[in-house]
Amino acid sequence: MNIRLLAAVLAARLVGWVSRMSGRGGSSLPGLIARRVYPSVLRDLAAKLEWGAILLTGTNGKTTTAAMVRHIIETEGRPLLSNRAGANLILGLTATLVQAERWRIRPRADIALLETDEATMPRAGEEIQPRLIIVTNFFRDQLDRYGELTTTVRYVARGIESLGPGGVLVLNADDPQAAQLGYGRPDVLYFGLEGEAAKTAEAQGYDAMDARFCPRCGTELNYARRYYAHLGHYLCPDCGWRRPDPHIAVVRWSRKDHEMWVRIHGQVESFQWRLPGIYNLYNEAAAIAAGAAMGSRPTAIRESLATFRPAFGRMETLMAGDTRLWLALVKNPVGFNQVLSAVFEEAHEGGFSVMIVINDRYADGRDVSWLWDVDFEHWTEKLSPRRWYVSGLRARDMAVRLKYAGVPSDQVTVDENVNRILGKAMDQTGGETLYILPTYTAMLEVRQELTQLGLVRHFREG
Ligand SMILES: [Zn+2]
Repeated sequence: MNIRLLAAVLAARLVGWVSRMSGRGGSSLPGLIARRVYPSVLRDLAAKLEWGAILLTGTNGKTTTAAMVRHIIETEGRPLLSNRAGANLILGLTATLVQAERWRIRPRADIALLETDEATMPRAGEEIQPRLIIVTNFFRDQLDRYGELTTTVRYVARGIESLGPGGVLVLNADDPQAAQLGYGRPDVLYFGLEGEAAKTAEAQGYDAMDARFCPRCGTELNYARRYYAHLGHYLCPDCGWRRPDPHIAVVRWSRKDHEMWVRIHGQVESFQWRLPGIYNLYNEAAAIAAGAAMGSRPTAIRESLATFRPAFGRMETLMAGDTRLWLALVKNPVGFNQVLSAVFEEAHEGGFSVMIVINDRYADGRDVSWLWDVDFEHWTEKLSPRRWYVSGLRARDMAVRLKYAGVPSDQVTVDENVNRILGKAMDQTGGETLYILPTYTAMLEVRQELTQLGLVRHFREG
């Protein structure tokens, strides 16, 4: 090993160790130190990977798709290293490879799967020289960190220029901005949906059309079919550019059976639909495409995904696709106010919805008049969720309470059936946080449903 590379790795390890010991868990510092000591550290370490590196980028679904791709690769027993969800800038990518380095000629892993921030793509591509690049989709970022969507797309396009001969580009055919990145390239594997688009409000719920103009000539696209937002089957009426035919196409899906049928190079295979929501069909299709791009057989991918479990959040928080679920038991007025205060404390981070589930079984307390002692008037003034969901045996009482607290009834979805409303709420909260506030027995029902959906294996008691 080159002495400066060795010094960079050792220095970064030492810094990582010291910051862990002192309780500061900063993940970018080791990457920073390593690059200071030896600027080519990431380039050199990436070059040592026997198979090569995968860069996964896009606005939504990166973490879920990465988790599925990781699972597919690991099921095949191939040694893999990957970054944590937050460590997707150049320092995080550097730290990830540095941490995995061992003092041997061959590195510990022969594949690196790196979730990469869009704006980091040009630099990551140039230094890492990826063998596979996956682009999920492009949506306007809530903070608009990189200005216009087209700027973000341009960053990713520059990253793609680093894809060498023999490399594969996996793109979402249904997203015009993502699809056009493959224009005229022979090395693209497209994925997309071809099943019946929902005609219900669910498909319309995401309806911000972030990118409805032809990326080639700027004319407004015509859509024959739309799944959500600008994802669908489009055609430019002016220049004729259209959605490319996907190599990996989800041709049908069943919510009831959590099943999806995917055409892979002409052959239809059934897969478990692991996570709720249309956007998770896309995530799973992207993962299947990545597996196919790496040469995995469809049956092997199917068997692998059948045992996929999403990463477990900490304590009461867990992820359902790119939707964050946050659960807190409510059982009395004081506790409820505290929970609403906690929601207020962290909800300013971004969009969110609130689901309240009130039962009146023995363990909940038979009398629900306590709901009138919760200061909803105060909290509904401060909190502005996208939507309120109300469920449980006493859903009606709770809905009336919200109404008296000044919440317009068109902002409230009421359904006594917990499973049904939970599925709907999760679908509609894509990419954001759903705060679920159930009474005790309602909590058990929510937990059971999350287990059924494959989202929860074990859950902290509380
Ligand atoms: Zn056009």
